[in-house]
Amino acid sequence: MDETQQQSQGEDYDVLMVGAGLAGLTLARQLLLKRPEMRILMLDRRAVVPPLEQKVGEATVQVSGYYYARVLELEEHLLRHHYMKYNLRFYWQPPGGTDCWEGHSQSYIRNLSNIVTYQLDRNAFEEEVLRVNREHPSFRLVTEATSIELELAEVGLHGFRAVTPDGPIAGRARWVADTSGRGRLLAKRRGLARKSPIRHASSFLWVEGLLDPEKLTHLDAPGIRKRKDRHHLGHVPTFLATNHFCGEGYWFWEIPLHGKTSLGLVFDVERVPWKEVNTAAKLIDWVCRNLPMFARDLPQRKVIHHSGLADFAHDCGQTFSAARWSMTGEACRFTDPLYSPGGDLISIYNTLAADAILTADGEELERKVRLYESLARAVYEAYVPSYAVSQDLLGDQEAYTLRYIWELTVYFAYFVFPFINDLFTDQTFLPGYLRRFAQLGPMNHGIHTFLMGFYNWKKERGMLPPQGPVYFDFTEAWQLRAAADCFYQQGAGSGEARRVLDAQNGNLEELARWIAAHVAAVVLDEPRVVGSAEFVRGLDPWQLVFDPAEMAARWQACADLPAGESPWRIEPACMARFRRPADEVVDLEPEEAVEAAAGGR
Ligand SMILES: Cc1cc2nc3c(=O)[nH]c(=O)nc-3n(C[C@H](O)[C@H](O)[C@H](O)COP(=O)(O)OP(=O)(O)OC[C@H]3O[C@@H](n4cnc5c(N)ncnc54)[C@H](O)[C@@H]3O)c2cc1C
Repeated sequence: MDETQQQSQGEDYDVLMVGAGLAGLTLARQLLLKRPEMRILMLDRRAVVPPLEQKVGEATVQVSGYYYARVLELEEHLLRHHYMKYNLRFYWQPPGGTDCWEGHSQSYIRNLSNIVTYQLDRNAFEEEVLRVNREHPSFRLVTEATSIELELAEVGLHGFRAVTPDGPIAGRARWVADTSGRGRLLAKRRGLARKSPIRHASSFLWVEGLLDPEKLTHLDAPGIRKRKDRHHLGHVPTFLATNHFCGEGYWFWEIPLHGKTSLGLVFDVERVPWKEVNTAAKLIDWVCRNLPMFARDLPQRKVIHHSGLADFAHDCGQTFSAARWSMTGEACRFTDPLYSPGGDLISIYNTLAADAILTADGEELERKVRLYESLARAVYEAYVPSYAVSQDLLGDQEAYTLRYIWELTVYFAYFVFPFINDLFTDQTFLPGYLRRFAQLGPMNHGIHTFLMGFYNWKKERGMLPPQGPVYFDFTEAWQLRAAADCFYQQGAGSGEARRVLDAQNGNLEELARWIAAHVAAVVLDEPRVVGSAEFVRGLDPWQLVFDPAEMAARWQACADLPAGESPWRIEPACMARFRRPADEVVDLEPEEAVEAAAGGR
């Protein structure tokens, strides 16, 4: 209950928000920055906002990092109270597993992102957003608000009522923003809740102190510092990354927060039975058995909080209405935490909602809502194939590395570039953007299915665990570097932005061909395939099908032709790392592994 509640009875508001979590608080901040006098009433059923326990949603990526820091103007708070994040980092164990960090293969980006990202202590962040919102006398939060009733009107003001410990409150609002998270107030009441094809679960906890994966090792402190493989890995503390320890159908995250570490397992329910990991003790036991390196540390840690979700993905039939309501955050859609799309969707949906809320003209609002609904669905659906089709790929470094290069290239071009240029609310840009993005859809789906075919093919042949520690910097793929150049295409108007996207489409087509050529080279055990202009020209990136017989027939037709000019802008040598000659592959005893780590790859 707030002190102004009695005065709020029967009052009119510009916006009623239900839910004072990440989506609601940031939407209010965005609106108040644009219109400081906006009258916002926020209702939450919790007594304490933000709560004390762990809320997942701790890692940010470029869109959410940029949104929280730059759009919401909270950069100083973020830099002072949260760790800067060192990209995403993925690990795989060798055959038979490993109990030390240096025994893992890794795929990563060595340089820090030029668009800064953060590891959020969500409660500290939400507390700060609430604080700055409260600096506006027109913002009010009422806690312990239950039995919320909404009377949504087609025209005129919406009505609302709620019960609080100090009695009922009621009033009217021009706009209703549902930010109730998993409460899903409007989706449930309006019959808009939809199922997702993704069936993943998560069990997660906070432990006290910093769990630094690099210290889970046979090496002593000077040994860690002076590893020769720092030549590849660099010096930025790897604990600052969102560290992903991967296996078929699952990944386990390590996220550092000040004074504590967030750890969580995300898994396909077909691969890991929920009952095996649904308590803190069972989760720790599972992790120590399947990722033995953690047995060095985790059982001794104090668990601060544990929770889990047995089935977290969901969809929604509609998110914006010209009748002046909207949903953002988990109130509408959620896919999977891999790549942290939750914060990104909040950033994008909130930006659309804020613009719609600030649109006074009814006809203009109708036009915008149509476009925004399509955009909201498109950016959500782009993630679905990644999680629904190719989650098993997490079991193989090579196939997964190809997948992530693809996904990150799409992300930089189609999510980050328009977002940092405020183009998602540019009516002259959106139709062309949506058309191009829709065209990309089949290629995106095709890549995921193609790579799943490759993964299963490798699995059938017992080729899955990497042959000894392999280190791979994703930006060795030049198409990814070309997409990251979009970070610097700032101030682009819609015409220039369309040209940038067309160039990126060419980049993506080349990347799709490169992925297909590399896979064919592995399947046919013929490295020359990648350099054959004729073979590469014949690949159709729009219709990729994993078919070894077809690959063999096509290679036969061009094997004897001269290689011709390189089919690539830059010579693609990096994937050869996954194909070491068999006589180089050795099983290392722990002491030898230490020496190998000290002496390079
Ligand atoms: C396992 C997992 C890991 C994740 N990791 C990440 C990550 O690393 N990065 C990332 O960006 N995202 C991540 N996400 C997603 C992220 O957690 C969500 O995007 C985010 O928490 C959603 O915020 P929200 O404001 O919609 O919901 P919340 O923060 O849950 O807020 C909803 C609020 O609404 C209130 N409420 C609910 N119902 C009612 C009601 N009927 N009446 C009144 N109040 C109500 C609640 O009390 C709550 O305060 C993860 C998700 C999962 C499942």
